[in-house]
Amino acid sequence: MTASLLALRGIGKAFPGVRALQDVDLTIERGEVVALIGENGAGKSTLMKVLAGVYRPDAGELWLDGALVALKSPAEALRLGIALIHQELSLCDNLTVAGALFLGAELRRGPFLRRRAMDVQARHWLLRLGLTVEPAALVATLSPGQKQLLEIARALRAKARVLIMDEPTSSLTLPETERLFTLVRELRDQGVGVVYISHRLGEVRELADRVVGLRDGKNSGELQRAEITHERLVGLMVGRTLSATRRVAHVPGDAVLQVKGLRTAAFPQAVVELAVRRCEVVGIAGLLGSGRTELLRALFGADRALAGDVTIAGKATAGRGPGAAAAAGLVLLPEDRKQQGLVLGMSVRHNLSLPTLRGRGVLIDRAYEAALAMRAIAELEIAARGPDQIVGTLSGGNQQKVVLGKWLAANPRVLLLDEPTRGVDVGARSEIYARLHALAAQGLAILFVSSELEEVLALADRALVMRQGAIVGELAGAALTEANVMMLATSMESR
Ligand code: ADP
Ligand code: MG
Repeated sequence: MTASLLALRGIGKAFPGVRALQDVDLTIERGEVVALIGENGAGKSTLMKVLAGVYRPDAGELWLDGALVALKSPAEALRLGIALIHQELSLCDNLTVAGALFLGAELRRGPFLRRRAMDVQARHWLLRLGLTVEPAALVATLSPGQKQLLEIARALRAKARVLIMDEPTSSLTLPETERLFTLVRELRDQGVGVVYISHRLGEVRELADRVVGLRDGKNSGELQRAEITHERLVGLMVGRTLSATRRVAHVPGDAVLQVKGLRTAAFPQAVVELAVRRCEVVGIAGLLGSGRTELLRALFGADRALAGDVTIAGKATAGRGPGAAAAAGLVLLPEDRKQQGLVLGMSVRHNLSLPTLRGRGVLIDRAYEAALAMRAIAELEIAARGPDQIVGTLSGGNQQKVVLGKWLAANPRVLLLDEPTRGVDVGARSEIYARLHALAAQGLAILFVSSELEEVLALADRALVMRQGAIVGELAGAALTEANVMMLATSMESR
């Protein structure tokens, strides 16, 4: 029997505080497309980075063509024919397209670069991928999808025998996706082994010869092509037990946030209707790109909706911008708190008082600021040396508490949160959950977006599941399970 093209055996990898991979096995045969699936944080990207020489595993072996190899760098992996197309685009913006294609493998004659020859070959690869860009164009001028295709061209140029694609289609347009799929099939027919990571189960069914599941950093099972069904794919991904932090739901009151006939520019064909009541915590689940952030931004008035009514505590705010929403009592804690929520170079005290600052002429009301800061630090248990500590020096969890405190100072009625615990450690997470539950008990209506199913289950009384800009289902009580959310969030329709 000939050896597998590639075999990973017993791979382990830990980061400080996280066991990202434990005893993971993966084989890839020549001419096979293996889909790797799993929830956010399951360890997919880490495993692929081990395979591509980005990370050195703490345990385990990597066999290539029956020989044990120890990869010291991505460049070495690429020389051996293992190419990783990153989830985060990694090409330098200041390179030319041809320069990026030949990076680290420039064609030379003596000391001279063979620019002409590189341009000619670059054209060949660009053509193969259907990329209509000039070899001399700067990478910076390419769209995210074009950059992704350029990375793939680079892998082909390097004669990759193992091609790894980490959620490649999330930044691709439909024609780009079609082109990519055709290419993957061509490569497979030429004997290349492909590892394909995608949350889009329709794509998985369309492309995969075999599916390998990861869950919490471990193998969760495998499906042969004939065994691939929606239920079984979801089964490979989910399966955690219910979080013990799940609470008894409050008895909700009147609707404070009401949305009718809302359409956003991102998904003009989808019409959103929803209501969130006093004392209620509603979670929005869905895959990356399902329109969750766009929905929150439209509710806040940060982006103008195409149509629809938004009513906050009886006031119509649609089309009037964030000022009107805030005046009616709605606040939004954005996903990227470093860019949108906090001034990292300023003190805790100053950040907390930003939205509600009352000036006395040109002077800041220092007494107000100080009182607010002391109260927030105590109530939210912000671990800071004092109100004057610079926010940028706090941990992620405490930064998030400052964002929360800053907006709570405005006494909102509706709280929108986008990924409330991204980058927050586990301990601070449960404190934030407890705080949000207490706020709901006091009468706040809370609507949050989260990519982590566990968080949706721990926090929400009710979950809305989005797909392609629309709410495709609502789950509460015993029906609110990881498997049900995932069944709704994914679909087996092809693209
Ligand atoms: P996936 O790609 O399946 O979403 P990842 O491999 O990115 O999952 O992450 C697996 C786990 O390892 C997660 O808990 C993640 O937070 C953690 N992790 C990933 N990369 C790092 C890193 N560079 N440093 C610390 N923790 C990390
Ligand atoms: Mg990943």
